[in-house]
Amino acid sequence: MFDKILIANRGEIALRVLRACREMGIHTVAIHSTADADAMHVRLADESVCIGPPPSADSYLNIPAIISAAEITGADAIHPGYGFLSENANFASIVEEHGITFIGPKPDHIRLMGDKIAAKAAARSVGIPVVPGSDGPVTDEAEAAGLAGRIGYPVLIKAAAGGGGRGMKVVRSAAELRTALAAARSEARLAFGNDAVYMEKYLSLPRHIELQVVADSFGNVIHLGERDCSLQRRHQKILEEALSPALNDEQRRRIGDTVTNAIRELGYLGVGTVEFLYENGEFYFIEMNTRLQVEHPVTEAITGLDLVREQIRIAAGAPLSLRQEEVKFWGHSIEVRINAENPVTFAPAPGRITDYHAPGGLGVRVDSALYAGYRVPPNYDSLIAKLIVHGTSRNECLMRLRRALQEYVIGGIETTIPLHLALTQEQDFVNGAYDIHWLEEYIANKG
Ligand code: ADP
Repeated sequence: MFDKILIANRGEIALRVLRACREMGIHTVAIHSTADADAMHVRLADESVCIGPPPSADSYLNIPAIISAAEITGADAIHPGYGFLSENANFASIVEEHGITFIGPKPDHIRLMGDKIAAKAAARSVGIPVVPGSDGPVTDEAEAAGLAGRIGYPVLIKAAAGGGGRGMKVVRSAAELRTALAAARSEARLAFGNDAVYMEKYLSLPRHIELQVVADSFGNVIHLGERDCSLQRRHQKILEEALSPALNDEQRRRIGDTVTNAIRELGYLGVGTVEFLYENGEFYFIEMNTRLQVEHPVTEAITGLDLVREQIRIAAGAPLSLRQEEVKFWGHSIEVRINAENPVTFAPAPGRITDYHAPGGLGVRVDSALYAGYRVPPNYDSLIAKLIVHGTSRNECLMRLRRALQEYVIGGIETTIPLHLALTQEQDFVNGAYDIHWLEEYIANKG
């Protein structure tokens, strides 16, 4: 087992990894920018290294500084968390070249899944159903028009290197295709440095359902059920639940078998998430994330498995700690993402936390690096806390979520807690009757 792990991240996820390390008796090294000198992950780690100024490009994305920090402190592994360098195949290779273990999949799999066109082709080749669309990049306008005609409008133009819900254009008719294609290309070039785009059928009423998989280096692969992440704004998740209110046991078993067989065939290692859109009883692959997800705690809640511990064990060469038959789903779990944002306009709201009181009690988990007196810096993602509730049923979860949100005090800045509280009162949400477009419509109608 490792003696010391460097955590190449910040905020709640740095704390999450730190906690797993501590329970495993592993020493921790925090890295931080000058903006984060007083951050909780720095305070709690055994050692810390300042790796640069506030902009991410100069600190949390600064590969030479991070490698130096690992070498100076003698860390034998690096955990990348999510975001930042977690899906950077180049970083994973450099880490390994320095004789340090990268806690994550092999660089080749990160690279493959990072190109969404290649990922779709790979998924299809191992029997995973994909969204109908182009087989490769769309370059030629006439060819694109022919394809869109065959698939049927509306279609979606997506960036091959896309992520974070960016780089997508809905095209509703042939007349819009030409401008949309050009706009998508130039936006993709600017945002991702890669102008390759592809085309998909735009599904009108799908849910976003994703499967959590875990694979060890002995060829064992298990899935831990699904998460429903259909509540989204601008293609970004804001609330997730497990299991999905839309699937039954038989559907779960079928998609679980398909996915675990595929992952085994790909020779994948570590944790990963296979994302699908689900419409009229059919699954359509959209992408695979080769890292720990923000929403992993809902899976932990219903399975009792510590996913970060599992990642660390697998990276150290240990086998999976349980077999598929031993995976049991208990009750229901919901996570809400609390952002430092105005709950109506979603404008970022960084600043100083004056009062802080986190909810507690049975079935309540808070993953956050906040404390009273902490200043949320303006330089990073606005996610400041995740509230996760667990209960015997979805109904119990909803009541628990409401009371926990009512207890939560984050003073001094605006947060999205009021939005989440309002959602717990919405009949469609209470009934589990929502798709990926529901939240946008709800927000538009309230505004
Ligand atoms: P990203 O990598 O940017 O997260 P994804 O491919 O995972 O992009 O898609 C993010 C979200 O965008 C999905 O959860 C869904 O809401 C929407 N989306 C993606 N593809 C389609 C599609 N073909 N039809 C309708 N919505 C889509």
